[in-house]
Amino acid sequence: MKKCDICNEKFTVWSTIRLAWGCSLLFSFLQISACIIDGFVPALTLSVNAVFIDRVLAFFAGKTSADAIIFPLLAILLILLWQNLSRVILQYGEGVRMHRIKELLQSAFIQKISRLKYRQLERPETQDLIKRAALDPENHVKLVLDSISGIFILFLQNSSVLLVVATTTWWVGVLMILGMVFLGRISMRAGEEDYHLQTEITEEKRKLDYLDSVIMKKDSVFERMLFAYTGVVGGWYQKLFMKTYQKEKRVLKLWSVRGKIGGTLSALFAILILFLLIPEVQKGQMTAGLYISVLNAVFVVTNSITWNLSYHMQNLAKGRELLRDMTQFCRLPEEDSLQNPQKDKSEAALFESLEFVNVHFRYQEDGQEVLKGLSFRLEAGKQYAFVGKNGAGKTTVIKLMLGLYPEYEGKILVNGKELRNYTSEQRSALFACVWQDYAKYQITVKENLCFDEEREPGVLESALDKVGLSETVQRLSDGIHTSLGRLMEDSTDFSGGQWQRLAIARAYVKGGGIMILDEPTASLDPMAESKIYRDLAEQNKDKTILFITHRLGAVQGVDTIFVLQDGRIMEQGKHLELMELKGSYAQMYASQQKWYV
Ligand code: ADP
Repeated sequence: MKKCDICNEKFTVWSTIRLAWGCSLLFSFLQISACIIDGFVPALTLSVNAVFIDRVLAFFAGKTSADAIIFPLLAILLILLWQNLSRVILQYGEGVRMHRIKELLQSAFIQKISRLKYRQLERPETQDLIKRAALDPENHVKLVLDSISGIFILFLQNSSVLLVVATTTWWVGVLMILGMVFLGRISMRAGEEDYHLQTEITEEKRKLDYLDSVIMKKDSVFERMLFAYTGVVGGWYQKLFMKTYQKEKRVLKLWSVRGKIGGTLSALFAILILFLLIPEVQKGQMTAGLYISVLNAVFVVTNSITWNLSYHMQNLAKGRELLRDMTQFCRLPEEDSLQNPQKDKSEAALFESLEFVNVHFRYQEDGQEVLKGLSFRLEAGKQYAFVGKNGAGKTTVIKLMLGLYPEYEGKILVNGKELRNYTSEQRSALFACVWQDYAKYQITVKENLCFDEEREPGVLESALDKVGLSETVQRLSDGIHTSLGRLMEDSTDFSGGQWQRLAIARAYVKGGGIMILDEPTASLDPMAESKIYRDLAEQNKDKTILFITHRLGAVQGVDTIFVLQDGRIMEQGKHLELMELKGSYAQMYASQQKWYV
């Protein structure tokens, strides 16, 4: 399987074996050889032990010399040596192979996640599927490979022992085969049940993870102290934990009851054979050495069927379900992609106009309409603002512009061409966006600005300058290369306002036809927000900027203000024009005026 087409694969047991084979030919060959040898070890041990015991007995009876014991003794030592040596070699090879599988799968899956449709990503079912299938896919592959090789070894071990046993008493062999099939089926069912339980509790585990982060993480430390809610949230955590634990306990109980029944049955079976074989020894058809070795083998085989086969079968069933999840994850719909993104990117970046024509939109098919016939036009080189109360639909407009929800009615035209006809790369080239909940990446300042992509000289410095961060960054111990956050020992943490400025600088560096600022300054006080928006407008007179805010004082100077209310544009114009209208803008402005004194 190649890296590029790994997500087009249907993950099956067979494709997993091919993947492992492709990742390390030499190790896979060694592993199969070792499995085959391991498979014959118990039968070999059985025969060697029988010879050894018979010769020791003969030696003590004075019927043979001590030399006759040396050969079987050496053979026993060689078998022990092989068992230890093979484990060391295989463990090393396994480590190398798993590393390669991890690299291959993880890079393919990370790319897949980055290509997923936004609407798809928002769904909790998708989040659960990603958690189950894509977080550590190499472990799913390992689970399947380990259980396949375990079953293969057990099959060889048991059939070779059965063969040796059957040559002495055929019916013991037949009984053992029937026992193997019976226990194998029970184990497969247990594996499937275990998987279904895991699926059932993923949602609860997601909630547990979230509550855990609220109690433990640094981001909520101040609120934790202020509202002293650790006890209450801890209680919720405890309750949910017990609920998931009860479900897990149910499966554990089933598993141990099955194990106990299987263990008792296999012990009874071995005792039965012990008695049934006595007449064979008395008749002289079986030597004492063979009798002891066969009994030993029957114990080993019944035990391995009860425990090891059950274990491997259960893991195989679980692994197959996880492989199905991986296939389902790979089939999730993606954003469209370009043959030649670079060329198209530059074409799309030449922004001229953006127009909404009678756009209607609802998030869910049966949900309420959020945009109800929205129409407006933005032109290159001008500055605009969308204002309106919380919930008016401002962020929804931006999400539609970015193409995150293509299921709208009406038209969205970019440079006169329908937005749906642009690819995701072209759309991404059109916009530079800063959200209210912008990310604070715990990496260096430079990486925060451009993720280490090459930029023209001076671009980063100029972006920092525009947001007023130049001096702050120059004062840092390692300048632009200083790590931010709390992850590294020598890193520096920014204040809230500095992180905001950095997020805006990142948007500058990215560039694009329109810069959108969707209330990244909402956590600042109205005066501070007003200053940042005013500075940005002043410094970027020739740039198309779209400010989003519910605080009107911040955007008085822009070319056009759109007042959004209940999914429609209620008023539009310059600040003074809107004030003269004495409509909802003027009312909102009057009610907010006290914020700016
Ligand atoms: P604003 O940015 O003006 O505060 P939004 O665009 O965020 O408003 O929200 C407009 C309406 O759409 C609100 O009623 C909100 O509850 C709803 N909404 C926003 N996002 C979603 C979503 N992902 N799914 C369902 N409804 C949503």
